[in-house]
Amino acid sequence: MDHFLYRDGALYAEDVPVTEIAAAVGTPFYVYSTATLKRHFQLFDDALAWGDHLVCFAMKSASNQAIIKLLGDAGAGMDVVSGGEYLRAKAAGIPGERIVFSGVGKTADEMRMALEGGIRQFNVESEPEMIVLDQVAQSLGVVAPITVRVNPDVDAKTHAKIATGKSENKFGIPISRARDVYAMAAKMPGLKVIGIDVHIGSQLTELAPFEAAYRKVAELTETLRADGHEITRLDLGGGLGIPYSRSNEAPPLPTDYGDLIKRTVGHLGCEIEIEPGRLISGNAGLMVSKVIYVKSGEDRDFLILDGAMNDLIRPAMYDAYHDIVPVIEPQPGAEPAKYDIVGPVCESGDTFAKGRVMPAVMPDDLVAFRSAGAYGAVMSSEYNSRPLIPEVLVDGDQFAVIRARPTYEEMIARDTLPEWLV
Ligand SMILES: *Cc1c(COP(=O)(O)O)cnc(C)c1O
Repeated sequence: MDHFLYRDGALYAEDVPVTEIAAAVGTPFYVYSTATLKRHFQLFDDALAWGDHLVCFAMKSASNQAIIKLLGDAGAGMDVVSGGEYLRAKAAGIPGERIVFSGVGKTADEMRMALEGGIRQFNVESEPEMIVLDQVAQSLGVVAPITVRVNPDVDAKTHAKIATGKSENKFGIPISRARDVYAMAAKMPGLKVIGIDVHIGSQLTELAPFEAAYRKVAELTETLRADGHEITRLDLGGGLGIPYSRSNEAPPLPTDYGDLIKRTVGHLGCEIEIEPGRLISGNAGLMVSKVIYVKSGEDRDFLILDGAMNDLIRPAMYDAYHDIVPVIEPQPGAEPAKYDIVGPVCESGDTFAKGRVMPAVMPDDLVAFRSAGAYGAVMSSEYNSRPLIPEVLVDGDQFAVIRARPTYEEMIARDTLPEWLV
């Protein structure tokens, strides 16, 4: 559920008409709902209320300072996957003890940054990484708290580009080798083993793969404890899917997910961490775009928008579906039209939808892409020299620009000429 509803014939973001934001900032733009972000965080927090836990928002899904700050104020921790995300979390006021560092390719510099600035734990993904982290921690005279990310070899049944828990994926260490790797970690003076980490993929639409993975984690916890390791924390990753199409998908609810966690690992007495991204931010954002042309082709009509694949790459990259709706509510019974919905970028891949049936729209009409809050703005680029589009945050009846659109001059001024060309 979100807070983008039609009211008096027009789409609102909470209590603000989307047309009002468009008039203020121009199109295309992203707009996020504070109430939706808070509500989704709260659903997870409540689902784990049966025990000691921390919900760490996966910042890679949406990393604007304002979003991080409001979730942090609500009590969220952060899951970061780069030094840049770590610094963004710190800049938004998140204390180090609420920041978890994930990712397969942490550099020594990033490790140093986190150890100096404060970190809850590193989720280590390989032996070579473990060796480097041990050295960095020793050189600073500190001990790095770690979990080891295990790869449970579970099929998440999701898009190949966002499945991470099969043995062929680059993530984690095979669960079959976990005992050896933990034994190695226990001997390293710069590391303190505190738990186990697992994350099997994104946009999971059923609970069964989580259940399979968490049962393996429970079994491993017992084994490692028997080997003498203190396992007090389980990081169970993110990945719960959201409905992108309102009609036919009903992904599992956070409450059922929380019950599943309790059922599979609750008896172990561990502190539970989860790292949801998409389910918190996905349905909390729209991308709003304007129709430039309606072009009749040989056998189809094209809706050409001012938003493009550089602004929202999910359809081009993952064949992702987004609901695309007119900002002015269509009259009941209005004739639907069928369009290929595209952007102005010079690539055929710049297609948001093919043969989409939707209410007919005209040039200058606004359309909204639903469920664009996760992996939207963060994956945008300036391809075709299209300046990054602004982000706007709504809270009740107020709204503010939380990242401004750069001017053409600012965009161009980021390049510099070498002196021999001046
Ligand atoms: C991407 C990622 C997440 C978040 O995944 P969502 O599907 O957005 O919930 C969590 N943890 C790790 C390690 C990730 O790479």
